[in-house]
Amino acid sequence: ANFAEIDLGSALNLNIKRCKYVKPTPVQRYAIPILIAGRDLMACAQTGSGKTAAFCLPIICNIMRQSPPPQQRPKHGACSAFPKALILSPTRELAIQIHEEAKKFGYQTGIRVVVLYGGTPVHLQLRELQRGVDILVATPGRLVDLMDRSKVSLNEIKYLTLDEADRMLDMGFEPQIRKIVQQMDMPPPGRRLTMLFSATFPEEIQRLASDFLLNYIFLAI
Ligand code: AMP
Repeated sequence: ANFAEIDLGSALNLNIKRCKYVKPTPVQRYAIPILIAGRDLMACAQTGSGKTAAFCLPIICNIMRQSPPPQQRPKHGACSAFPKALILSPTRELAIQIHEEAKKFGYQTGIRVVVLYGGTPVHLQLRELQRGVDILVATPGRLVDLMDRSKVSLNEIKYLTLDEADRMLDMGFEPQIRKIVQQMDMPPPGRRLTMLFSATFPEEIQRLASDFLLNYIFLAI
């Protein structure tokens, strides 16, 4: 099988070619059609499995299909940043990698990807946010900080990804993750598509899955 057999649209197919990906990895082959079809997903996948593309490609594909051309103009009001997709990552390094990969796939689609992580001054990240954001990649601590300061709103999130969920729990991020998801579930209610990636599937992860996912498909590679 190759990528052309998965119907991602011509813009994404071109960007996949630019990345020199020819064949989808197993997690990509199975996860992408599930997510394009709009089903929640819990996937057991290791680093190196190609999981980043497995969630980035369907998010971009779905955003392009569902919304009119992405709005470049920030909205007015106290909070100018209304991302449609949120990808949570345990570490700054992983967040940066996801941001890079998502930008490559979003090339010339008009979709803006912004990354937020702690340990650096916030003003450059805020400037990026205020220029508009469709896909937000973030570590939980920095995101909660900016949510509390009304710099970003999660009211329009339609796609939520928890990447390396087991590592996020190991690092003690469960309260922040729950706060973030709670924020998203406040009115106006709209069904979001949720995907949870984890290398392991212990009881705590099963609990997150049953709390956050709806009628989900379980994928073990
Ligand atoms: P990940 O597991 O998402 O961190 O990806 C691991 C590495 O594999 C990254 O360097 C990707 O750029 C690369 N990669 C992901 N999917 C493919 C693919 N279908 N073909 C070739 N390389 C890939």
